[in-house]
Amino acid sequence: MAESDNSNCLKGYSYAEPEIQQFVKDFSKLILEDALIPQTDPNTRVLNFKQPLDLQKFLDLEIYEEPIPREKLLELGKKVIGGSIVPGHPHFFNTMYSAIDPYSLFGAWLTEALNCNVHTYEVAPVMVTLENYIFKKISSVIGYPDGEGIFCPGSSFSNLTAIHLARFRYNSTLREKGMFTCEPMTILKSEDAHYSIEKGASFLGFGTDNVVTIKTDDRGRIIPKDLEHKIRQCKQNKCAPIMFMATCGTTVLGSYDDLEAVADICQRHNVWMHADGAWGGGVMLSDKLKHLTKGIERSDSVAWNIHKMGGAGIQCSVFVVKEKGFLERCNAYRAEYLFQPDKIYDTSYDIGDRTIQCGRKNDVLKLWLMWKGRGDKAMGARIEKAFENAAYLTEKLKLTEGFRLVLPEFQCTNISFWYIPPRLRGQNETAEWWKEVGKVAPAIKGRMMLKGSLMISYQPLSTKGLVNFFKVIVGNPVCERSDMDFIVDEIIRLAEDV
Ligand SMILES: *Cc1c(COP(=O)(O)O)cnc(C)c1O
Repeated sequence: MAESDNSNCLKGYSYAEPEIQQFVKDFSKLILEDALIPQTDPNTRVLNFKQPLDLQKFLDLEIYEEPIPREKLLELGKKVIGGSIVPGHPHFFNTMYSAIDPYSLFGAWLTEALNCNVHTYEVAPVMVTLENYIFKKISSVIGYPDGEGIFCPGSSFSNLTAIHLARFRYNSTLREKGMFTCEPMTILKSEDAHYSIEKGASFLGFGTDNVVTIKTDDRGRIIPKDLEHKIRQCKQNKCAPIMFMATCGTTVLGSYDDLEAVADICQRHNVWMHADGAWGGGVMLSDKLKHLTKGIERSDSVAWNIHKMGGAGIQCSVFVVKEKGFLERCNAYRAEYLFQPDKIYDTSYDIGDRTIQCGRKNDVLKLWLMWKGRGDKAMGARIEKAFENAAYLTEKLKLTEGFRLVLPEFQCTNISFWYIPPRLRGQNETAEWWKEVGKVAPAIKGRMMLKGSLMISYQPLSTKGLVNFFKVIVGNPVCERSDMDFIVDEIIRLAEDV
């Protein structure tokens, strides 16, 4: 048969080809030298901000009929690096992740190279074995005697899965019957809890109107009495309260709910207790800090993003359930083409039916290799260091003129504060005044982004009637006290005549 006209462009797929090997070496070098090593270089900017249309031009987006040479691809890689922000930079405090741990990066690269899909032991023997091990390990960290889990594409997905499990425990026939025949159900969360509960409620057919919000105290922690009260109210209104989501480290104020109190109430009313430790779950790795999640072992399920405080590559998000086998009972469908019962091995290792997904990205290697390489001690030390830096920053802000903390102290490493420029100091703090204060953070943030020297997020908190404030998230283990000093000094510099 004559060769097709495409023969020329069907080369370069085999890693045995010397040019491809050279390409892999070149791009590894590029990643190391252009993306990774410069992260901590004092001359590196946290970001090189471009407006969206400028970025589109800069990236040379257009894909053509003909291929571009490999050198050109590498140049594009450089552009991608140049246009991206640098979360590993010691002056990046914008969101809850920072640098990827080098051992986790090894896991991530190896994962991509092996390109396997975690549904059955048959196709992912190593990953299944590692997942089973890591969930034993995590269960013991949580304090579940015999827990089990899955990696999820984020904690929003885990929180949604928790609702799904809670519903199944409440009424397992809904799996077949659906929601059209059943009595109304409610899901409870605190007013400071993550918004993924509303998304989950909408997605799973509860409707956001059936999410009941529990009040928090002035530090952002749930008021247990209000939980008790609202559960009773739901029951009186013939709405079954099926789940309460407690939070270990809220996204804004970093508050930890009193899990012992929550567990008492959930137990009394037979309500599924889900602990959202997406952000603050990392404290469980530290003997000094794990008191913050005391009582978490009494929950029914836990969500934890180890790519946040833990330093694993994005994403590395675990959902852990206390009762072994429950995920499978709720989710299994036993597709004949994957889960054949007559395989040559123990098919309980075909763990893919624990999730509502079919194929699933392998996220375990990023975690296992990191944890193995660091050991329990360093995993905890990393988090303790972040807490020490955060405490230092809190004190510094207290002592520096013009800064005002949103809370007198913080339970986690989210440090929130206002900057009051000289023109607004010493005045009556009227509503008008606060309105002016609310304009300060966005103005400074804009300057910060253009200069590329620092990245910090800001936001209002309308549930507490608070205008825009800065929120620093401390997490990167390369950060020192001098980087905390830099935050304060740089804000003062940027704020000139704001
Ligand atoms: C980040 C976060 C989430 C959401 O996690 P994703 O992985 O982004 O979906 C949920 N809850 C809390 C408390 C968080 O901080």
